[in-house]
Amino acid sequence: MNDELRELYQQVILDHSRKPRNHGQLEGAVHVHGDNPSCGDEIDLYVKFDADGRIADVKFSGQGCAISQASASMMTLKVKGQPHGDAENLARDFRVVVTGEGKVANEDALGELQLLEGVQHFPQRVKCAMLGWRALEQAIQMRASGGSEGAASSED
Ligand code: ZN
Repeated sequence: MNDELRELYQQVILDHSRKPRNHGQLEGAVHVHGDNPSCGDEIDLYVKFDADGRIADVKFSGQGCAISQASASMMTLKVKGQPHGDAENLARDFRVVVTGEGKVANEDALGELQLLEGVQHFPQRVKCAMLGWRALEQAIQMRASGGSEGAASSED
């Protein structure tokens, strides 16, 4: 990663961790509690789906390291308004970005999320970056099965 990108990465992480977007709770939404015991990160994710399975609204609250909270904040901006299938594809591509394993299917969809590729150099941070996304994947699965309360642990 060159210096310019590293600086941008740090700015984006700081900005989102200090001012998380879509922060809060949603009544009547699918709720997933995600935790990452190895770092102490926690997230409560709330997802509302419309009748077509589109993510109508999404909010999160939580505590933990800057990467976990910033990644969740960036995720909410990306997936709000997306069909759940597109959000799942994005989650798969984001996992490739932060692990460096596999091939990204849709670079354009990732946009700013690609800045988090710096996480590749810190394997213990991958679970932090994935926490919100794992909770999202869990919420999408729960929608399919009709559930509304779930848990996603990075230790699974
Ligand atoms: Zn963390």
